[in-house]
Amino acid sequence: MLESEEETQFRDVCRRFAAKEIAPRIDAAERTGVYPRELRKIAGKAGLLGITAPEEFGGAGAPMVFQCIAIEEFASVCAGLASGLNGLGARMLVRVGTGAQKERYLKPTLAGDTGSAFAMTEPDAGSDVLALRTTAKPEGNGWRITGSKLYATGAPCSDYMIVVAYTDRDKRRDGLSLFLVDTDTEGVEIHKMDKLGHRSMETGAVFLDCVVPASALLGEAGQAMPNIMELLEEGRITHAARSLGVARGALDLAVDYASQRRTFGRKINEYQIIQMKLAQMLTEFRSAKLHVYDSARQYDAGAPTLMEACMAKLVASEAAVSITDQGMRIFAGAGYINESPINRFFRDARLYPISEGTNEIQMRTICRLAGIM
Ligand SMILES: Cc1cc2nc3c(=O)[nH]c(=O)nc-3n(C[C@H](O)[C@H](O)[C@H](O)COP(=O)(O)OP(=O)(O)OC[C@H]3O[C@@H](n4cnc5c(N)ncnc54)[C@H](O)[C@@H]3O)c2cc1C
Repeated sequence: MLESEEETQFRDVCRRFAAKEIAPRIDAAERTGVYPRELRKIAGKAGLLGITAPEEFGGAGAPMVFQCIAIEEFASVCAGLASGLNGLGARMLVRVGTGAQKERYLKPTLAGDTGSAFAMTEPDAGSDVLALRTTAKPEGNGWRITGSKLYATGAPCSDYMIVVAYTDRDKRRDGLSLFLVDTDTEGVEIHKMDKLGHRSMETGAVFLDCVVPASALLGEAGQAMPNIMELLEEGRITHAARSLGVARGALDLAVDYASQRRTFGRKINEYQIIQMKLAQMLTEFRSAKLHVYDSARQYDAGAPTLMEACMAKLVASEAAVSITDQGMRIFAGAGYINESPINRFFRDARLYPISEGTNEIQMRTICRLAGIM
């Protein structure tokens, strides 16, 4: 796929960073489930955080295509560690934060000094966001937030979270608001959740019964839903880029293994059935890549991108699942052992049809936008 010279140079920078800084940290982080916070600092110093964020806050002010390149390269080495370098939290702050909120929260995050999490999902509200139960009620000069959240990526290793809560439940869609909640606030409890993949990223169940100042309100009260929907358009493209990275990591491993593993006196890539698998994997990868970079370029051109973002998310996440599954078959026994990298990519890929809106929800949105429901 064609890239500009500048894009290819940036890809090389990201690839070298991933080999030097991400790869050596994988084993310990996957084994202990502890995210290496220093990685953020190192990425911040290298100018690889907040690639699309404005330069005045420490970002690079670059187009979305560059963000996708970085995510693809990092995730092709380790998706769990990569996901700590591109949080939704910082991107929401860029969109709706006040100057003071950007100074206090965004700048240190883009420098790699702090981490953020985005806490929307609840035990009874995943796809159905309006079923949220968390509330924020005025108390003193601030707000009392009460509720519980699930699966908040990075919450256990973050300094603050963006929490979605009802400030007026009767208004439903127009009653949801966003709050910046420091993770060390009294009345905030975060418990690490054990999970199948992305083991090097810490995921939290969050319990909230806390008071935050008036200045914690992010964006206007009641405006969370449109802000989240806009963020998700961008989030689906970057999510697709992450799926693409995992697909590529698995594909490279499978191609390499098939060229070395011998059975019955021949390399397994000499068997037509293995060649067919590899051809299928390469085609699925290319199809995903076309979707990811086409939607990113469309986003950069300022055109509406929701449909393309949903399709990219759908195609790339299914490609990641399919390619890692086929990769496991090519590795056979060697892939089933947990230390094997193909095994890690396979487990990581299982997340992608679920997160950032399930693929069933993407299909629903695609049908709605296409006017067929
Ligand atoms: C590791 C991990 C990290 C995550 N990180 C975050 C995070 O950082 N922040 C955050 O807020 N959330 C996060 N999530 C939550 C994730 O976004 C939700 O799991 C996802 O939105 C689905 O919600 P649910 O799990 O409650 O499934 P449900 O909504 O209960 O869906 C169950 C099934 O029903 C299907 N379904 C539901 N409604 C419909 C419908 N109308 N039409 C057709 N099918 C439907 C779904 O597609 C799915 O197959 C994370 C999840 C995981 C596993």
